[in-house]
Amino acid sequence: MPAATRMLRPAHLTRSIPSAIAGTQPSISFEFFPPRDDAAEAVLWEAIRRLEKVRPTFVSVTYGAGGSTRDRTIRVTERIARETLLTPMAHLTCVGHSVTELRGVVGSLSAVGIRNILALRGDPQGGAGGEWVRHPEGIDHADELVSLVRLLGAFTVGVAAFPDQHPESPSLDFDAEVLVRKADAGAEFAITQFFFTREAYVGLRDRVAARGRDIPIIPGLMPVTNVKQLARMTQLSGQPVPASVTSRLEAVADDPEAVRQVGVEITTELAQQLLAEGAPGIHFITMNRSTATLQVFDNLGLTAAQ
Ligand code: FAD
Repeated sequence: MPAATRMLRPAHLTRSIPSAIAGTQPSISFEFFPPRDDAAEAVLWEAIRRLEKVRPTFVSVTYGAGGSTRDRTIRVTERIARETLLTPMAHLTCVGHSVTELRGVVGSLSAVGIRNILALRGDPQGGAGGEWVRHPEGIDHADELVSLVRLLGAFTVGVAAFPDQHPESPSLDFDAEVLVRKADAGAEFAITQFFFTREAYVGLRDRVAARGRDIPIIPGLMPVTNVKQLARMTQLSGQPVPASVTSRLEAVADDPEAVRQVGVEITTELAQQLLAEGAPGIHFITMNRSTATLQVFDNLGLTAAQ
């Protein structure tokens, strides 16, 4: 392309997540979900503006199960790219999409300058652990989506990882093999499903390393702010919550502020243990709120990798 017609993209858009997390500072990143309506979108933007101040390494927006929430995912990701100095990463799933449609979504993300994509299969239409049915002209697994996205342009691609075993997986060893397969397809980093013990993370990391791979695995942590939300998230994701966590939260269940404080303590303790283990950063599942996440961030005393 002649230099005169090449579009210059701002540095925050073209920043490569794998390069940023390879630095000496831990990476800090925030995950949002697509808001359901305009009021929820306003709440999300308030959180984004507050979280932007701590200059995270990147932020991401999950890909909805279908229709209008998907449009909102793309719209919010584009708006982050256009109106903030944050590096956006778009989640993308194979659910209900033909390969042609997937190409179209990747093209529209590329058109607004997004360079980092989290390539996922998505949960079966019936929810986590249900029977997976591929779109007749679609893709079966995330490793194939990694290959497709890599073919379509100069993207860096991340993938999901599961310290507590994916609900459809036969074993923790199989999960490690799947992660190696995704790395072989071109994934440069992984972000985990939320989990609650240091042992779960270390186990996954060591199983992957034993297979000769050192793909960076960023722990995904969810600061719990209420007991009902925790129950809903664990039901949706099919992930277990240890009794050591539920008992601490249930002990203060009648006091919403105490639940939030205990949730912040639990996440801070786990993040400290994981960083001490050499985790490349922390990915916060924010639930589109900022207060608890910022408290954990402050407790950790970090500056994010840029
Ligand atoms: P895959 O890697 O395809 O794995 C799915 C299942 O198939 C696993 O049991 C795996 O063991 C097995 N498997 C994988 N490859 C093969 C193979 N080649 N042969 C045989 N079996 C195989 N969901 C959303 O809908 N939107 C989101 O934005 C979203 N964001 C997420 C972000 C993170 C960080 C994480 C951890 C999860 C996210 N999810 C999201 C949920 C995710 O889509 C589901 O957990 C899904 O069931 C698994 O996705 P995957 O990309 O790991 O799929």
